[in-house]
Amino acid sequence: MTHPAQPKASHFINGAYVEDTAGTPIPVIYAATGDQIATVHAATPAIVEQALASGKAAQKAWAKMSGTERGRILRRAADIIRARNHELSVLETYDTGKPLQETLVADATSGADALEYFGGLAGSLTGEHIPLGEDWVYTMREALGLCVGIGAWNYPTQIACWKGAPALACGNSMVFKPSEATPLCALKVAEILHEAGLPAGVFNVVQGMGEVGAALVTDPRVDKVSLTGSVPTGKKVYAAAAADMKHVTMELGGKSPMIVFDDADIDNAVGGAINGNFYSSGQVCSNGTRVFVQKGIKEKFLARLAERTGNAVIGDPMDEATSFGPMVNENQMNIVLGYIEKGKAEGARLICGGARCDMPGWYLQPTVFADVTDDMTIAREEIFGPVMSVLDFDSEEEVVARANDTEFGLSAGVFTKDFTRAHRVIGNLEAGSCFINSYNDAPVEAPFGGVKASGVGRENSKEAIKHFSQVKSVYVRMGDVEAAF
Ligand code: NAD
Repeated sequence: MTHPAQPKASHFINGAYVEDTAGTPIPVIYAATGDQIATVHAATPAIVEQALASGKAAQKAWAKMSGTERGRILRRAADIIRARNHELSVLETYDTGKPLQETLVADATSGADALEYFGGLAGSLTGEHIPLGEDWVYTMREALGLCVGIGAWNYPTQIACWKGAPALACGNSMVFKPSEATPLCALKVAEILHEAGLPAGVFNVVQGMGEVGAALVTDPRVDKVSLTGSVPTGKKVYAAAAADMKHVTMELGGKSPMIVFDDADIDNAVGGAINGNFYSSGQVCSNGTRVFVQKGIKEKFLARLAERTGNAVIGDPMDEATSFGPMVNENQMNIVLGYIEKGKAEGARLICGGARCDMPGWYLQPTVFADVTDDMTIAREEIFGPVMSVLDFDSEEEVVARANDTEFGLSAGVFTKDFTRAHRVIGNLEAGSCFINSYNDAPVEAPFGGVKASGVGRENSKEAIKHFSQVKSVYVRMGDVEAAF
C-alpha cells in the first residue's frame, strides 16, 4: 500500500503535479524508523526547462496584478495552511523526523505567518516622490523577475514559505528546489498556493541534488537566487550567481555564541541553551552552540543543564509527548557522531549524552561538553546536531573578543540582568540576529540573517522586500531641455 507521505508526483510545475521517472530516484526515509516511505525523482533537464519556462512566462502578468490582489491569494493560502496544520505537521514530521510537538507549532504555522505577513504588505509596496523645484523624481518598487529558491532540510515548509511569500508579494515568480533530504513539504506549499488562486507557473517546485540547484542558478532567465544551506554551498552558489550579476540572498551556517553572565537567571539561561542547542535535535542554523558561561556560576549552570537535559523525552516523533526526535538521516547522524568523538579525543569533559540511542532510527542523545576551549574542533566548526559546547570566561571584554573570533556571524545571545551590559555586549558582537535573555525566537516581523560568512541579505520583515524587489527612478522635467549645443 502506498504510504500517505508519497506525493502525487515529484514536481509541481505550471499549476500541476508533473512526473518524469527518467530522473534519478530519491528515496524518502523516515528518520524515526529508517524505513523508506516515499520516492521522488530528481528533475531531468527537460523538467528543469519546463519549470524555468513556466516561471518566466507567468511572472509579468503576476507582477501586473495589484499588490492587494496578490496579497489576497497569499493570505488565503495562509488560512488554508492553518486549517490543515495537523495534516501538514504530520507530513513535516515524516519529511524531517522532527517531533510533532514541534512541527505542530513551528513549521506550517511559521509558513502561514510569512504568507499572511507578506500578503498584508503586498498592497503597500510603493515608491516615493522626490520634489526638485518644478521637476521631480519618482521611484517605483519593481519585481526582480524569476527567482530561484533552494532549501536546506531542517525546515522544509518554513523555508519554502519564507522565500516564496516575499518573492511572490513583490510580483516575482519562483522555482523552488527543496533539499533532496526533505522533498515532500514544498510540494504541499505549491499545491495550497494554487488552491488559493495563484496563477499557474508563479510558484514551481522541482526536486534534485546540488546539480539541479546549479542548473537553476546558472540559467540566464533567472534574476535572483535565495539559498538556505551551508557556507561551502553558499560560496559556490554566490559565485555562480555573480557570473551573471544575479541578486542573491544567502542564509548559511553558524557557530553562534550565547553568553551567560554571573548575574543571569540560571534557569532562563539554561532554557535558552536548551532551545538554542536541542530544538529540532540541534539542526538549526542560528543555534547558540558555543555557550560561554562566566566562571562564578559555571558548575551551578552545568548541574542544572544536565538535570533538565535528562528530562528530554526521546521517542516516537508522532507521539506528542516526545520532545526530542532523530537526526534527519543516517549521514547527518554519522557526521555528528564524528564530532562527538572529536570532542572526547580533544579533551572536552562530557557532561551528558555522547552516543547514539539504542533504538531504531537515527537518534542521538542530547550531548553537553564542558571545559571546551576555543581551539577545539567542536568549538570551531558547525556541527548541526545536538552537541552543546560550554566554555568558561572571566571578563566581558575577553568573552566578546572570543565570541567574535569565528568566520561565522549568524546569531548571538546574552543572558544578564544588567541591561546596560546586555545592550553594550550585543552592540559589540558580530552577528545578524541577536537575543537578550532569550534564544532562537524567529517571528516573521523580525529581520533574519547573518554577517561575515553566515550570509548576505535578510529574510522576513520589511527587509526581505528590499531583497526581492528593485527601485526604478524616473526624472520628470517640466521645462525645456538645456543642452551645450
Ligand atoms: P547544503 O549546503 O548541503 O545544501 C543546501 C541546498 O543547496 C540543498 O538543496 C542542496 O541540494 C543545494 N545545493 C548543493 N550544492 C549546490 C550547488 N552547487 N548549486 C546549487 N544548489 C546546491 O545544506 P544542508 O545540509 O541541506 O543544510 C544544512 C546547512 O544549512 C547548515 O550549514 C545550516 O546552518 C544551513 N542553514 C541555514 C539557515 C539560515 O537561515 N541561515 C537555515 C537552515 C539551515
